[in-house]
Amino acid sequence: MPYAGKKERSLVMIKPDGIQRSLIGEVIKRFENMGLKLIAMKMLVPTVEKIEQHYTLDPNWRRVTGEKTIKGYKDKGMTPPSEDPFEITAKILAGLKKYMTSGPVVAMVWEGAHVIKIVRKLVGGTEPLTSDVGSIRGDYVLDSYEMSDADGRAIRNLIHASGSVSEAEMEIKHWFTPEELISYRLVQEEILYDVNLDGILE
Ligand code: GDP
Ligand code: MG
Repeated sequence: MPYAGKKERSLVMIKPDGIQRSLIGEVIKRFENMGLKLIAMKMLVPTVEKIEQHYTLDPNWRRVTGEKTIKGYKDKGMTPPSEDPFEITAKILAGLKKYMTSGPVVAMVWEGAHVIKIVRKLVGGTEPLTSDVGSIRGDYVLDSYEMSDADGRAIRNLIHASGSVSEAEMEIKHWFTPEELISYRLVQEEILYDVNLDGILE
């Protein structure tokens, strides 16, 4: 059976700070260099409602993100601002609404084998201070939870990228209509995916 996951999809968004830092080309270049295929793209200024819906597409997001954040504080020996995960996420969500509606964003859908894991690898961990050197967040931005929490705002980490196949499906539907997703062939797919490599030599 041939590998069935060659057309996995990820929703990627260059956040307002990424646009302001003139990183649209750099981000796209890294994904293109990897061999991934861009199948949809648009620039827009999101509404507050659209952002709230985006982050709460998964009904568990409020609880899971709150619990993760509380654990993060405790792992660092710090006292979380609240023991209630929902209170924590309410604050995070308020910050995200302000951040993500502050200017234009670029929303994209990328396709390819392992695209979700590969994009997350290229993008780097959520907190730029601790994301790997060589990743986009690790190379181009210096924010930390310590600084963003003290200043009462969302962490500025340039990019959003889907975390799982099910998250990607919901997010792609949220930002794009089916007609906006373009089905086409890229010549390089032959060298990335073709099993026999029988079309090269003349
Ligand atoms: P991502 O997929 O890498 O963006 O990270 P998540 O989906 O886990 O979190 C979504 C957003 O919630 C992040 O972009 C942050 O703005 C916020 N967030 C997540 N974890 C934390 C945390 O530990 N502390 C704070 N202050 N914000 C967080
Ligand atoms: Mg996420």
